[in-house]
Amino acid sequence: MTSITLNNVEKSFGKVTVLHDIDLMIEDGEFCVFLGPSGCGKSTLLRMIAGIETVTSGDLRIGGERMNDVLPSERRVAMVFQNYALYPHMSVYENMAFGLKQAKTPKDEIAKRVQIAAKTLQIEPLLERRPKELSGGQRQRVAIGRAIVRQPAVFLFDEPLSNLDAALRVHMRTEIANLHRDFPHASMIYVTHDQTEAMALADKIVLLRSGEDVLTKGSIAQSGSPLELYHRPKNRFVAGFLGSPS
Ligand code: ADP
Ligand code: MG
Repeated sequence: MTSITLNNVEKSFGKVTVLHDIDLMIEDGEFCVFLGPSGCGKSTLLRMIAGIETVTSGDLRIGGERMNDVLPSERRVAMVFQNYALYPHMSVYENMAFGLKQAKTPKDEIAKRVQIAAKTLQIEPLLERRPKELSGGQRQRVAIGRAIVRQPAVFLFDEPLSNLDAALRVHMRTEIANLHRDFPHASMIYVTHDQTEAMALADKIVLLRSGEDVLTKGSIAQSGSPLELYHRPKNRFVAGFLGSPS
């Protein structure tokens, strides 16, 4: 069981509350999209689940176990960042192997997992290259490969396609949908501000919004299936956000 639950979670930076009243449940194997305008707290919410940002108050659980004080490396989550965050001085192979080496995974097991991930993502011919010798789409694949080899229970994506051109973005969207198909038991949380992307990928959309004043910010405007939000928006914000093309 790897479902993720957040109960009454709040996040503040100093005096500023950026997220409040976050109640959320993501099922085992579910593809969940965090959608919302820039600055509403999507990345912060994702980073708390990853463990790279602390939870100010409330309860965060993965697989029923309280995670508030658990280190990122012990959470069975893997994150893919918008800017790829590859190590420039390492080869593609070394980039993909790095996390496993840190975790003291045996060498032949590392080699096996990297090979399988590289095959899945069709980057086998690129394993000896450095990141600077790759296109944007290839770099993004390496970043996804680095997540796959860790065999996480939860994949976290923070706007992974926003640096790619439009055509490649549509193509990579299909690849991410395939990834979900290939790892049916892993939960996926995908952050985007693009409603088309959200509608195409999500089992569940969590639509966030910013607050009215500068001291109280993001909260969940509505969560549910894409069709639910589209056909039964709870308020004007939801209707406006999903109704207007980007
Ligand atoms: P989104 O990903 O939806 O664009 P973020 O989660 O990045 O939004 O940011 C939400 C709010 O939290 C923003 O107002 C941002 O300025 C603020 N914020 C994010 N990280 C920090 C930080 N480390 N210190 C202070 N404020 C932050
Ligand atoms: Mg963000």
